[in-house]
Amino acid sequence: MQTSSLYDMTIIGAGPIGLYTAFYSGLRSMKTKVIDAEPGVGGKIRYFYPEKLIHDIGGIAEISGAELVQNFKRQAETFQPKFVLGNRVVGLTNLHDGTFVLTTENGEQHFSKTVVIACGNGTYKVAPLEADHAEKHKPAIHYHLSDIEKFRGKKVVVSGGGDAAIDAAFTLNQTAAQVDLIYRGESFKGYEERAKELMDSEITVHLHHEITALNEENDLEKITVCCKTSNQQKQLDCEALFISHGVEVDFSFATNWGLQTEEWGIAVDELMQTNIPGVYACGDTACYPRKIRIIAAGLHEAAIAVNSAKQHLEPGAAPEAMVSTHHEHFM
Ligand SMILES: Cc1cc2nc3c(=O)[nH]c(=O)nc-3n(C[C@H](O)[C@H](O)[C@H](O)COP(=O)(O)OP(=O)(O)OC[C@H]3O[C@@H](n4cnc5c(N)ncnc54)[C@H](O)[C@@H]3O)c2cc1C
Repeated sequence: MQTSSLYDMTIIGAGPIGLYTAFYSGLRSMKTKVIDAEPGVGGKIRYFYPEKLIHDIGGIAEISGAELVQNFKRQAETFQPKFVLGNRVVGLTNLHDGTFVLTTENGEQHFSKTVVIACGNGTYKVAPLEADHAEKHKPAIHYHLSDIEKFRGKKVVVSGGGDAAIDAAFTLNQTAAQVDLIYRGESFKGYEERAKELMDSEITVHLHHEITALNEENDLEKITVCCKTSNQQKQLDCEALFISHGVEVDFSFATNWGLQTEEWGIAVDELMQTNIPGVYACGDTACYPRKIRIIAAGLHEAAIAVNSAKQHLEPGAAPEAMVSTHHEHFM
């Protein structure tokens, strides 16, 4: 191994929390690498809600997901970490001298003195729509919302019952001519307030329904939905579909790496340490009592994880960084 390829810290995941970890690691003068399975940075924000307006980040009254990702990226680049994108980490092992070896699915090896896991719920793959003639209308079926202008003036049907579906329905309602939301359950799984707001909005909600077929013709003008309780079918006008039937997440790697896991991720203590010395976790994947899975909470965890890693490498190092305005880079 060449010394130049050995990093002080390698972060698995370039979601919002991985990006902030990279910034904070640079602030603490650690040579840093970030690896993500996706081809772009931003994690769940990029994947599920780039167009949504976010309101619950302290000090930012309103910001779109895409703009927030740009800000996280710009901040992360301050100390020029190395980014490796489109490459999933599949192996984590430890050499005799304590160096960690991260193996990616294309066979690359990355060497690091410490590791921060900011991998959210793992890598994801959307669950596809299963309905008659779905194959035929692939271009009209959307799983990600990257450009709501594509839906301007169209009749859009959203299918799903979680936060992502509700967020998508509201976002699409800004440009679409009409939005129908289909959900096979009897009540929404997302935040109660958001579901109530939805029921009071102009979006037409069809609970207990699911999509059974798309138009046989070449143009997607109508879809067939079926009521789960009465078994009655009806047709809805539809020019574009947004499907949010959940994601299949792959988190199997965590147990394979010998990490202690909980139902929702990786167990950490108050220093964000996992059961493997030198390996930390933060963001959605970090599990401890009273955990809150929002961006604001993960930012604090990122700083703690970096400070812990810094002291792991240099036991005499200060327990925390100076505030950024005292850092020579910003003077
Ligand atoms: C629909 C929806 C709406 C939301 N709205 C809000 C909101 O309004 N406000 C708020 O604060 N929070 C919101 N959240 C929650 C917020 O998105 C998360 O708390 C946040 O994204 C967590 O960031 P993270 O970096 O920990 O993980 P993630 O954003 O999940 O990023 C993890 C990254 O790790 C990568 N990764 C995983 N495994 C590997 C691997 N083995 N190798 C390489 N890369 C890997 C993934 O590809 C991903 O890019 C929302 C979530 C959803 C789903």
